[in-house]
Amino acid sequence: MGLPCGSIFVILGTMKIVLSQTMGYCKGVSRALDMAQKAIEDAREAGLPVYSLGKLIHNKQVCNQFAQEGLVEINGPAGQQKGVVVLRAHGIGDALRSEFLDAGYHVVDATCPVVKRNLHHIARYAPNHSILIVGHAKHPESTAMQGVCIDQKVIASRLITGLQDVGEPEEGVSYAVFVQTTFDQSLWTQIKQALSVWQDTGTTVLFANEICPSSVNRRTALIELASQCDGVVVIGGKDSANTRALYSLVLEMGKKAWHIEDETEITNEMYQCAILGITAGASTPHSLVERIVGALQQE
Ligand code: SF4
Repeated sequence: MGLPCGSIFVILGTMKIVLSQTMGYCKGVSRALDMAQKAIEDAREAGLPVYSLGKLIHNKQVCNQFAQEGLVEINGPAGQQKGVVVLRAHGIGDALRSEFLDAGYHVVDATCPVVKRNLHHIARYAPNHSILIVGHAKHPESTAMQGVCIDQKVIASRLITGLQDVGEPEEGVSYAVFVQTTFDQSLWTQIKQALSVWQDTGTTVLFANEICPSSVNRRTALIELASQCDGVVVIGGKDSANTRALYSLVLEMGKKAWHIEDETEITNEMYQCAILGITAGASTPHSLVERIVGALQQE
């Protein structure tokens, strides 16, 4: 890594750029990318096509790079020649995994171990609990959590995307609550509080997991960064849940924020900050951060 996190640069004589102490790839994403790279090489040697289920990560530059190396994005096993399929860090529903295996694909499971443990726990708690999933609708991790099966049957669950979905508990039902590992932390705190109220009336509510420490640390570092900056540039895919949560956090702190995917989105307004902070989501490569800082320095 060229630019260490926490670095400070001075540009145009007065404006300072400060990098967050914690940003960029989480362990789950790094691991998935390494596994995808190896899968591409192995598939090439074996003369097989290689696919990723959906976008490998929420970063278009990285996905384009992998596409150039031969990784093709698909949504299911039907309609193409069978080969090697890489399952991304967010995980996959059991039925879809079985479809790939039954169709003869070689499955490279890059599900993050933290996510995998949550998926196992959903199956473990389901026989005695009603499952509540707190996550973003259609986010692949939420979809994977909603797709856990027991005896090939999808476990019934209810998705909570915000406070409006919390509702009331059913009498005599015990609940196990799972949260998407990259969910917005302040919203999670509010939802958790609302669900905790159910416990006051005797309902069992088990909070089975928490937001990933990697997301928490990135957020804590951002709070520290934003408190010393006039504005913060948040780098990452517009479809990345954790990047969007970082962007919202800066706005909640009353600071200027820009969510950008590359250097073409640099604006003149950024140069009006005396101190400009930089952070990046869990799917953002450090090389992209370096490129954007380089471009900011050249303006
Ligand atoms: S945020 Fe945490 S749980 Fe999610 S992929 Fe990254 S390391 Fe795994």
